[in-house]
Amino acid sequence: MATYDVLVIGAGNLGLWTAYHLARQGVKRIAVCERAWAGFGATTRSAGMVRQQGGSRTASLLGRDARTLYLQLGQELGLDSGFTELGYYILAETAEEKANYQELVAIRRELGIENEWIDAEEGRRRFPAVNWDYFIGATYAPTDGYVHPLTVARNITYGVLRTAAIDLHEMTAVEAIGWSGGRYLARTTRGVFEAERVVDAGGPRGARTIGAMVDVNVPVSATRHQVVTYPTAPPELGDRFPLLFTVANGFYIRPEEQGVLLGMSNPREDADSSNSYQVEFDVGFYEDLRPVWEARVPSLAGRRVSRAWAASIDYTPDHLPIIDEPRDGFYVLAAGGHGMMWGPALGMKMAELIVRGAVSDLPDEDIKLDRFTAPRARKDAIALPFPAR
Ligand SMILES: Cc1cc2nc3c(=O)[nH]c(=O)nc-3n(C[C@H](O)[C@H](O)[C@H](O)COP(=O)(O)OP(=O)(O)OC[C@H]3O[C@@H](n4cnc5c(N)ncnc54)[C@H](O)[C@@H]3O)c2cc1C
Repeated sequence: MATYDVLVIGAGNLGLWTAYHLARQGVKRIAVCERAWAGFGATTRSAGMVRQQGGSRTASLLGRDARTLYLQLGQELGLDSGFTELGYYILAETAEEKANYQELVAIRRELGIENEWIDAEEGRRRFPAVNWDYFIGATYAPTDGYVHPLTVARNITYGVLRTAAIDLHEMTAVEAIGWSGGRYLARTTRGVFEAERVVDAGGPRGARTIGAMVDVNVPVSATRHQVVTYPTAPPELGDRFPLLFTVANGFYIRPEEQGVLLGMSNPREDADSSNSYQVEFDVGFYEDLRPVWEARVPSLAGRRVSRAWAASIDYTPDHLPIIDEPRDGFYVLAAGGHGMMWGPALGMKMAELIVRGAVSDLPDEDIKLDRFTAPRARKDAIALPFPAR
């Protein structure tokens, strides 16, 4: 039987960064068990949008720190960090969005994040490829950007592999978790692992099931999320255009190679509890939403598609993360659908909770599981329109 101080279940962006930070905070024997390969889940299927422009203080702080950690790891390894900084517009359509976003600008500035509100007239001047007739303005952060998901998965896997305190076990699915003599016993497809502490970082297709193994309800759901890429960018955009996201319309764009990547969510789709990855692309929804983005970014009209994929994205009821210890020695870490923009920082916060017993800088009401026991008005204001059910 393999014996560890901490067993992390799931080698996605969250689990890998947790192991990495645990080792840096002095934990000596860490295992990461992954049922497939490192990055297999939502992580390498994602779009990689990275915003410090969160919809709350918590979201902004996590975005700020994650961006820094990506850059630091790239430097540490002597490799490309995977992060491309191009600036990011969050577009507002309504007076309510405007008021909200302007408040957020101030909150982010307090965190040292450079960002501003611009009105539609200024938007037309700076980013004429957008049809600003639909928008009353936007917030803009020049140091936001995107990560290349495969590169960041490679980097954190490499960071983990070269750390002596961490053993990464691929093709090792955790099937049951027991408790004996004050330690957890995880039965896996490759034997039993014993550990003082266990971290559930199972993502959209594992977090809930792993929680259930120890009778903990983990409200992480999965829903289909879709991405397409276009092989070339229209001249109106150029190939290094800033990112944009319109919450009200549920789509975002960024550059991809020499073309464009466009992501979209269907709010009418239900949560999926099947436990299999939702890889079927919904062409009908793509066609339904197409007039919406073609009106708002007209040069995208009629572009031919180079790649299209669907995948299961994680979400929590309020789009905020879970960083908690609901049972002695059993920890839950989830990203609320923002695991690329927050992953490195979430791993750091989870390591803090394990090593120091508390999470610094983030309020309990944004990270603990017990916030879901009562109806909750607070939601992160800048998140995709995921299913209500
Ligand atoms: C199409 C798409 C686009 C997205 N775009 C963005 C974006 O632009 N920006 C952003 O911030 N986020 C985005 N996301 C969300 C982001 O990808 C996720 O929030 C993030 O990857 C979650 O990381 P994770 O480590 O929690 O989960 P995962 O990456 O899913 O990792 C969990 C791992 O746990 C493993 N596992 C599960 N159960 C077990 C078990 N019993 N035993 C062993 N291993 C197990 C799985 O195999 C998996 O590899 C997107 C997601 C999708 C699907």
